[in-house]
Amino acid sequence: MPEGTKKSVYSVCSMCTVRCPIEVEVENGAVRHIWGNPHLLGGHYLCPRGAAGKVFQNDTERLQHPMIRDGERGSGKWKKASWDEALDYIASNLKKIISKHGGESVVLGDRGGPFTDMQKAFIKALGSPNYFNHHGACSNSVHNAHNAMTGHRRNTVAYDWKNCDYCILYGRNILESIGTKEAKDFIDALERGMKFTHIDVRWNYTAAKADRFLMLKPGTDYALNLALINVIVKEKLYDAAFVERWVTGMKELVAFVEPYTPEWAEKETGIPAKQIVTIAHELAEAKPAVILYQGWMTAWTENDYYFRRSIYMLYALLGGYEAKGGLLFNKNETHTGRKPLRKLVDGVPKVNKKRFDGVGWKYKHLSPDYGLAQMLPYAILKEDPYPVKAFINYRFDPLSAFPDPEAFKKGLMKLDLLVTVDVNYSHTGWISDVILPEATYLERTDPAIAKGGPKPALWLRRQAVEPQYDSKPKWWIFKQLAERLGIGEYFPYNSAEELIEWQLKDIGFQLSDFDAKGYIELAKDQILWDRSDGLKFKTPSGKIEFVSSMLQDSGLPSFPPYESPKSPPKGHYRLLTGKIAIHTQGTTLNNLYLNELQPENTLWINTNEAKKLGIKTGDTVEVSSNGCVQTVKASVTDFIHPDAVYTLHGFGREIPQQTRAYKRGMRDNTLMGGLLTVAVGGNCPITDCFVRVKKAS
Ligand code: SF4
Repeated sequence: MPEGTKKSVYSVCSMCTVRCPIEVEVENGAVRHIWGNPHLLGGHYLCPRGAAGKVFQNDTERLQHPMIRDGERGSGKWKKASWDEALDYIASNLKKIISKHGGESVVLGDRGGPFTDMQKAFIKALGSPNYFNHHGACSNSVHNAHNAMTGHRRNTVAYDWKNCDYCILYGRNILESIGTKEAKDFIDALERGMKFTHIDVRWNYTAAKADRFLMLKPGTDYALNLALINVIVKEKLYDAAFVERWVTGMKELVAFVEPYTPEWAEKETGIPAKQIVTIAHELAEAKPAVILYQGWMTAWTENDYYFRRSIYMLYALLGGYEAKGGLLFNKNETHTGRKPLRKLVDGVPKVNKKRFDGVGWKYKHLSPDYGLAQMLPYAILKEDPYPVKAFINYRFDPLSAFPDPEAFKKGLMKLDLLVTVDVNYSHTGWISDVILPEATYLERTDPAIAKGGPKPALWLRRQAVEPQYDSKPKWWIFKQLAERLGIGEYFPYNSAEELIEWQLKDIGFQLSDFDAKGYIELAKDQILWDRSDGLKFKTPSGKIEFVSSMLQDSGLPSFPPYESPKSPPKGHYRLLTGKIAIHTQGTTLNNLYLNELQPENTLWINTNEAKKLGIKTGDTVEVSSNGCVQTVKASVTDFIHPDAVYTLHGFGREIPQQTRAYKRGMRDNTLMGGLLTVAVGGNCPITDCFVRVKKAS
């Protein structure tokens, strides 16, 4: 770009998985500033991470060129490679593996979200059913609970903050673990007068805005909901017309919640029975304009699946589906009378092989859209149900995200081929055979995506600046690999522009239609379905199934008796983790700006407990579990339940190349030994981690 040239490019952020629409200001080929796209956000605002993406471009500590392992796995010895060398190496090894063990012996994992079409097409074209994403460590139980009850995943509904009158956040720290627009909509709703109850085991910035903050015993959110349902059904406070029309299994629910009274729940949760009754009345009064938001950070326990189900049962009882102020179904291209955006994966022949992780045959109630990444090390080690020999790891880091990284690593070390494609170093990349450096989101154009919502649209991540170092965009990397593997026909393009024009062909738009505002609007107004007859629940009954056919098929009960969460053994605390607005877990810790703002995590511990242990704020403490010890500074506070300690997830990076983040703070997931398992909802029960804490000597 000639000196003195300025331009502005609409694109999509990739500093976290929310993926906000952005406007990138470019001067002389360098990113000057990143704003929110005002056409979609109604302003230029953005979160700190989004703005800090600017320093990505010239960061000397990002991945710079392809690398092939030049020593033992994980030794940190690499040889710089050309793209041809690296791609040939991967292709020839994949060919050997596939000819000996079949396509299903190759597995691909990514971060999930809307930009997954290319990865799904690639693995399917190799003849493998084995795509999974990060959600086994995150929101699997939420998605799967909603899916089994309504036939829709969680992200097929949107929260209508604009019209909501009352909301409960269950550990959803919406003002710190943020999506830019959602945080703004939430604040606007508060300013408009929305009432808000916040339930958590610790106080935080979101709690500071609440009308009522309730500190409950860790892991007992489900008990609270059972008591709320108990009051709502006993006092007949529910939306009888909606329930009559759209719900099956009401009789079974009423019988099930009978013993779970507010008085029972008071003993279980620590929340006074009177308060529970008051909340039930407030919900009933505000219905259907109610949002109940569990987010991700509630209780990931063995049975938190049933807690997630109880949230959606409350929505159904309050008539909250497709209701103003409640949950609105996301509509897609076809709901506007158009054909859908073309997908690469649809052009690849179906793979009729069972999955390595049991989804679809052993776990019939869990979705293949997410899979069970946590089963990978076990499948590799046991070769059960068949040998898994190669893992293609696209911008995903299970060794940072999942509990018990040692157990995960043990499996990965036995692979014949481990490939990581990423923009940054990761713990999983570090033990890979090949690392391919992807161009950052500011340097690449990605395939267009359909953005579902009450007002569906098409979005585009567009290149703003030239790729730095020897990095390449995703569309190029997968195309090159596909050509070498003889599956190039499924990637019918030679440039990002050609790919997008191909995607847009049936829907009747062109690439240039993104120019004006950065997106293509598919509907002028919100599309709302008729609540009396037009709702589309994708269950066998066409209704919300409290007694789930899907669970029945899997041999699982819809209403197992409530079980109290495990209590910390004597001298232990439940370890809980969370997020702040400054970091996206491990992925931004080495960002020059964000690292300066928050270089390390601390351990929150209750004042009385700290006193017993002789710990003061700023003391270095040892946190231990299962023979693993991490050291970190203590933050002593009244604002956390005495049974729990809390830290920010993702710190304690162990990659020397990331000098700013290297060994800063504690690496929480190493303390979660034995929790790399599959709970009922397909999540890992990561909040069932109990640790000892002592002052470091
Ligand atoms: S919330 Fe922040 S980091 Fe995440 S996509 Fe939006 S601007 Fe980017």
